[in-house]
Amino acid sequence: MSENSNRVDVGIVGAGPAGLMTALLLKRRGISAAVVERRSHAEIHRTQRAGILEAPTVDMLVDADVDSRVLTAGHEHEGTVLSFDGVQHRIDFQKLVGRSVWLYPQNEVFHDLATAWIREGGQIHWSVTDVEVHGVDSHEPRITFFDADGKPGQIDAELIVGADGSRSMCRRLIPEDVRTDYFTSYPFAWFGILCEAPPTAPELIYANSEVGFALISQRNASVQRMYFQCDPDTDPEDWSEQAIFDHIQHVLGGPEAVALKRGPIIEKTVLPFRSYVCDPMTYGRLALAGDAAHTVPPTGAKGLNLAFSDVRALVPRVEEFINGVKEASGTMSPVPVSTEPLQRYSRTALDRVWKAQNFSYWVTNLLHRQPDEGEFAQRRRRGEFDAITGSVHGQAYFADSYTGWSTS
Ligand SMILES: Cc1cc2nc3c(=O)[nH]c(=O)nc-3n(C[C@H](O)[C@H](O)[C@H](O)COP(=O)(O)OP(=O)(O)OC[C@H]3O[C@@H](n4cnc5c(N)ncnc54)[C@H](O)[C@@H]3O)c2cc1C
Repeated sequence: MSENSNRVDVGIVGAGPAGLMTALLLKRRGISAAVVERRSHAEIHRTQRAGILEAPTVDMLVDADVDSRVLTAGHEHEGTVLSFDGVQHRIDFQKLVGRSVWLYPQNEVFHDLATAWIREGGQIHWSVTDVEVHGVDSHEPRITFFDADGKPGQIDAELIVGADGSRSMCRRLIPEDVRTDYFTSYPFAWFGILCEAPPTAPELIYANSEVGFALISQRNASVQRMYFQCDPDTDPEDWSEQAIFDHIQHVLGGPEAVALKRGPIIEKTVLPFRSYVCDPMTYGRLALAGDAAHTVPPTGAKGLNLAFSDVRALVPRVEEFINGVKEASGTMSPVPVSTEPLQRYSRTALDRVWKAQNFSYWVTNLLHRQPDEGEFAQRRRRGEFDAITGSVHGQAYFADSYTGWSTS
C-alpha cells in the first residue's frame, strides 16, 4: 500500500463527461468516488470535440448544480438547416417537438464538471500512467496506477466504472465469451477545421451535394467549426486554406446558396468514424459508461449525449448496488451481493444506445456520398431527403431524434 492508497465506494477510470458526471451525481447521493485520468486537466480542456447538447443533457447539467454556464454562455438552437444541392430546408425543433438543442462546446462541459468536482473536494488523479483494474469478478475490485510524480497509487472500491473512452482498457475486462462486439465501419471520414471568422449562419447547416457532405457549425462569435467528407487516408496538409473553403462552398451549392464566412484556419484534423456497441455494458463489479461502451459517427451529434444518458441510467442502479453492499456488510454472516441492478442498467442503457445508433447511421448515410455510388444512388438519396423535408412527419422524426427524444 502507498500514500496514494484509499478506499471509496466507486472507482472511476476516465475524467471525460461520463466519468465526471457519474462522480458528481454519486456524491449527491452520498456515495464516495475517486477518479483516475491519463491526461492532464489542461490537455482535456483544449481538446475540441462535441458541440451540440440535447435538451435532456442540458437538463442534467442544470440539475446537477455544477454552476454550468450552458444556459448563459451556450446558444440555444431552435432548429437546424438541411441543405441538398444548394436548396435549404429549416427543421423547426420547437414547432415540431417543443425542444431545442444547445451549442456548448465539450471543453466547456468538461470545465464545468471538473471545476465542481475539485471545488467539492472530489478525489481526482490527473496525468496517471499504467492504470490497471483488478478483481472485477471478485468482491474486492481495485485500480492501480502511477501518479503524475511516478509514485504508485491504489484505489480500493466496491465497484469500478469504466468511463475511459473509445479505446477503453476497461471494456477488455469483460471476457470475450461474455461480450458481444457489434461494429460497422464507414468508407469515409470527416475533415474538420476551426477558423477565425464570425458565424456563417445562426444555426448549423448540414449539407449534401454530388461531392458529398459538409457541416457548418460554430464555436463562438469569432470561431467557426466546419467539417467535410473526405477519404480516411487524407493528409490534412495536402489541403490549402483556399481549397478547403472552395470545397465546402461547393457542397453548400451555387451562387444563390449561403456564402461561407472565411478566415484563418487554426486547426485541421481528419476524424475516421465507426459505429460500435459492447453488450453487455457490465460484468461482475464493472460497469462501462459513454464511449467506453459504444461509439457513433458524429453526424447525429449523439456521443456526449449518450454518455450523459448512460450516467442517468447508471447512477440510481449504482446506489441500489452500494446499498446492497452496505446492508450485506452489516450482517453477521455476509451474503453475496447481487449485481442484478447493474445488469438492469446495461439493458436500459442499451435500449437508448441502439436508438441513437440507428439515428446516427441513418443520418450519416442520408448526408454522405458512398465512394463508388452512381447517379441512381444520388437521385434516390434526393428522394429520401424530399420525403423528410417535405413532410411534417418526416421533419418531426428528425427533430425528435436530434433533440434527444423524451426521457420519460
Ligand atoms: C469531432 C467530434 C465531434 C463530436 N461532436 C459531438 C456532438 O456534437 N455531440 C455529441 O454528443 N457528441 C459528439 N462527439 C462525441 C463526444 O465527443 C464523445 O462521445 C464524448 O467525449 C464521450 O465522453 P466519454 O466521457 O465517454 O469519453 P471521453 O470524452 O473520451 O473521456 C474518456 C477519458 O478517459 C481517459 N482515459 C482513457 N484511457 C484511460 C486509462 N487507461 N486510464 C485513465 N484514463 C483514461 C481519456 O484520457 C479521456 O479523458 C464528437 C466527437 C468528435 C471526435
